[in-house]
Amino acid sequence: MLRRGARVALAALLASCAAAPYTRRSQLILISPEEENKLGARAFQQVLGKSHVDGREQVNGPVEGVGQRLARVAERPDYKWRFVAIDDPKQQNAFCLPGGKVAVYTGIFPLAESTNGLAVVLGHEIAHALARHGAERMSQGLVAQAGGSLLGAWLGGGPGPNTILAAYGLGAQLGVLLPYSRTQESEADHIGLLLMARAGYDPRGALAFWQRMERAAGGAPPEFLSTHPSHGTREQQIQAWLPEAMRYYEASAHAGVEPLPAIAGATPRSTPRSDRAHEFFTCNLFRAGVSAPPSSFSPISNDAMR
Ligand SMILES: [Zn+2]
Repeated sequence: MLRRGARVALAALLASCAAAPYTRRSQLILISPEEENKLGARAFQQVLGKSHVDGREQVNGPVEGVGQRLARVAERPDYKWRFVAIDDPKQQNAFCLPGGKVAVYTGIFPLAESTNGLAVVLGHEIAHALARHGAERMSQGLVAQAGGSLLGAWLGGGPGPNTILAAYGLGAQLGVLLPYSRTQESEADHIGLLLMARAGYDPRGALAFWQRMERAAGGAPPEFLSTHPSHGTREQQIQAWLPEAMRYYEASAHAGVEPLPAIAGATPRSTPRSDRAHEFFTCNLFRAGVSAPPSSFSPISNDAMR
């Protein structure tokens, strides 16, 4: 245990620090982009295999159109971009996996309202992938695991270690990993805002979009337990980033704004079943709970998709 933990800790120390695009926040990432993109492609196939891809032109067209404009400013020539609409009016969500694999659930359409709103959603999700948040979370999980192993080894036998490790798991969620994830969510808001503006979408639309999300969510979760910033914090942050985003927008070729087709059967709030399947790589726009730190390299946990 100690040797394995020490090895991971050493690797963590020796790993060169990455930096997130735009924000230049330094990150500890122990997984190569190639490895990450491979995991992303595999996870995408698994999700698509369990989903109903919506090929209707009026649904897929806007997803593809907005997505391609964002992809052009993403500056990732190594990504093989794919944009897919998934027919599921109950899921108000979207995701982008490493390597540029993007899916939009049709349940987000009524909240996005237009291609500009869709650009807010896709900008945020694509930003998670560009900033390699999934790899960062997995790396944090590895370090937390190694730290837990060391702690258990140092504290010796008896009933103690298990109790300590359990407590450590909770501590890792509430004390170490959770605030970091909220940092990532804010960073995805920030980078997403700049991406949409560079792609020619009016970043001021982000405020209206998140206000619609707030109304749909009906009462925000307490900020401390949410991996997303509270609605109030999010709006303040977006206001602060808007001048920077507006400079990009003014310099861009403006995209036309088209209404999205009406999607029947949407409900105000849902807890997506398949969310757990790709939680290592994606955010749930409505996430209110606390997710466990990742326990392995696998992008798909064994009990996913149930
Ligand atoms: Zn997010």
